[in-house]
Amino acid sequence: MISRESGDRDTPGVAGPPGDPRLVAFGERVRALDARWSLALVLSLLLLASDAAVSYVALDSSGQAQASERAVPDEAGARRASVPGQNALVRPEPQPGYPEQREIVALLNRRAAAMLRHDGAAFLATVDAQAGSAAKRQVTRFANQAEVPFAEVRYTGTDARPIELTARRAGGLGAVVQLDARLEYRIKGFDEHAVGSTVRLVLVRRSTAGQARWYVHDERPAGGDTPTYQLWDFGRVNVVRGEHSLVMGLHETATLRRYANEVDRAVPGVDAVWGGGWFRRVVVEVPRTEEQMARLLGARPGEYSQIAAVTIGEFSLDGRRVADRIIVNPEAFRKLTPLGRMIVTRHELTHVATRGVTRSWTPTWLTEGFADYVGYRRSGVPVRTAAAELLEEVRGGDTPAELPDRRDFETANPRLAQAYEQAWLACRYLVEEYGEDKLVTFYRAVGQGPDGEARALRTVLGTTEEEFTAGWREYLEKLAK
Ligand SMILES: [Zn+2]
Repeated sequence: MISRESGDRDTPGVAGPPGDPRLVAFGERVRALDARWSLALVLSLLLLASDAAVSYVALDSSGQAQASERAVPDEAGARRASVPGQNALVRPEPQPGYPEQREIVALLNRRAAAMLRHDGAAFLATVDAQAGSAAKRQVTRFANQAEVPFAEVRYTGTDARPIELTARRAGGLGAVVQLDARLEYRIKGFDEHAVGSTVRLVLVRRSTAGQARWYVHDERPAGGDTPTYQLWDFGRVNVVRGEHSLVMGLHETATLRRYANEVDRAVPGVDAVWGGGWFRRVVVEVPRTEEQMARLLGARPGEYSQIAAVTIGEFSLDGRRVADRIIVNPEAFRKLTPLGRMIVTRHELTHVATRGVTRSWTPTWLTEGFADYVGYRRSGVPVRTAAAELLEEVRGGDTPAELPDRRDFETANPRLAQAYEQAWLACRYLVEEYGEDKLVTFYRAVGQGPDGEARALRTVLGTTEEEFTAGWREYLEKLAK
């Protein structure tokens, strides 16, 4: 059986911890800091106790305030968007006693610029040299990015948390700040929209040679129970370009080249159904293990064991700019036959191709079924093989009553294979009954409004959901004979 792909994940949001963020921050701080910091802790608590003293920063490497391109319905996002023209401070009035905010933003701007230019000396100048293993981690991660062609790198404060400003003046340590920010980037020639993940930064102010400066003491993936990682958190990233792809991975380039070739081979199969009017360029990420794949997706290890690859798309708020990623499960992908790899790659590319007209209300049976329809089309794989699990159930008298919904495509569903097969055969039924052109027209029409599915069934196919479902069930029973 072919390893399948999960449902679309539109914007993989920055899932914050539940509850009052200040309380959560406090709990984490207690665990993170030892007794040496007790004075600092008391001061932080005093600051946090008064709402007026809680400040937020928006961090931005471009040196200009930018409204978030992602819908961030939280307080921090709203505040940041509300003060265009200001660089760092979200609150209209800087709090007295926080002059460091500007310096911190400047530090992170310099750091982002160093990453953009792969400028080692400039990057090192942002690292707290006394941070030991935390400093080494930062430098290693930077070195791992050496081949990555960034068009942009920036820190943004989309997940703003209270600054923890401590005031330990001894030992040359002027202050310590911990905050969560998003580290975002664009790949040159591929991403129209910046993607990234939340990082937790620990910043220290040190006096050296009579001058006090801010440094990054530590930076690590953060955000909820399962932080989202980037490839360079795991090792040196190699980069290979295909005609239609940029493949970033932890393998040697000869291995990555095969993935690039796979994409190039799959593109005509997508064009044949969808037409050529799509971006036709995608970034593919190839980690070494399934566990790394899960971490790239901010998921728990094991969650994607059944899955060969996942496509993620992130939009700008206006929907005009997009960044797509195909993230490969190398362990599942390796087990596929060449034909299986082509089918999976076509499936993923179909998600990329249809991204522009896929909406939150587009039913999962259609997004996944259409991707499988393109994947299997003229592949020579018999229906009896590709839909074996489902057809066996139907033969046993267990014909599904409804088209599968979003929950049926959750990766933990033990009947995940049947869900994909139901969706695929719904699209195959549509094509046999109405024609392939109608399938494409239907897909586009569904995206045109929240009631798109019912309307498109009526206007494109001249049918209703009940009639369509009944026809699909009959089709399944016919195939199962
Ligand atoms: Zn899919």
